[in-house]
Amino acid sequence: MDNIKSNLEYDYLKYNLEEVNVNINNAYEKSEKLVDKVTLVAVSKTKPYKDIEALFSFGQKEFGENKVQELVEKLESNNDEIKWHFIGHLQRNKVKYIIGKTKLIHSVDSVKLAAQIEKEAEKLNEKIDILLEVNIAKEESKYGFLKEDIDSAVKDILKFNHINIRGLMTVAPYTDDKESNRTYFKELRLLKEELNNNNRSLNMDQLSMGMTNDYEIAIEEGATIIRVGTGLFGKRDYSK
Ligand SMILES: *Cc1c(COP(=O)(O)O)cnc(C)c1O
Repeated sequence: MDNIKSNLEYDYLKYNLEEVNVNINNAYEKSEKLVDKVTLVAVSKTKPYKDIEALFSFGQKEFGENKVQELVEKLESNNDEIKWHFIGHLQRNKVKYIIGKTKLIHSVDSVKLAAQIEKEAEKLNEKIDILLEVNIAKEESKYGFLKEDIDSAVKDILKFNHINIRGLMTVAPYTDDKESNRTYFKELRLLKEELNNNNRSLNMDQLSMGMTNDYEIAIEEGATIIRVGTGLFGKRDYSK
């Protein structure tokens, strides 16, 4: 690790991390402090493991991946201190590869997927923390429950003994006008409260919302988890 710390090649990661953490604190101070704290998940998709290792050496402990194969490869590093978040669309036949290996699965978008997680979790005899993904802006291209379907999904998933529904997640529309996402973040927070009120045994305390473009707005609206990729690691190259 020492050789990484002193390696100028990774200085930009150190500065980016510092900058994002300063922005998080400022946004939090400015907010109504609807939550106790905000957790930064560093989205490392497409980035090599050495970038993760460098950011880890600068103090970042939680990382997010959106592809099963890529997460599995990065898990081979065997750094137990890293907490992994799965944030991408999860196919049912791939649940077995990541079950029990993540701190949180953010992207449960169907009851069938939850049923598969239940099945694999039962084999492990573990309780798995999940978030339900909501397509809050009703975008064609996005995964997630529609607002009107989620109460019935919650009721079905609450029957599973090896799943703990910790909260909601959304991927807000990509926009140059980040203020325009404020209404969606607020809607997600209110939806979480409504679902908690409607379901006795539900006690969701997490809201995963906000990415590089809009995480400050998300924090002002009560995010407990933000997922930042580009703002930490720089632009992604999908050509490879
Ligand atoms: C890629 C990704 C992010 C991070 O996006 P940036 O704009 O690079 O911060 C966050 N959440 C999900 C679900 C993603 O797939």
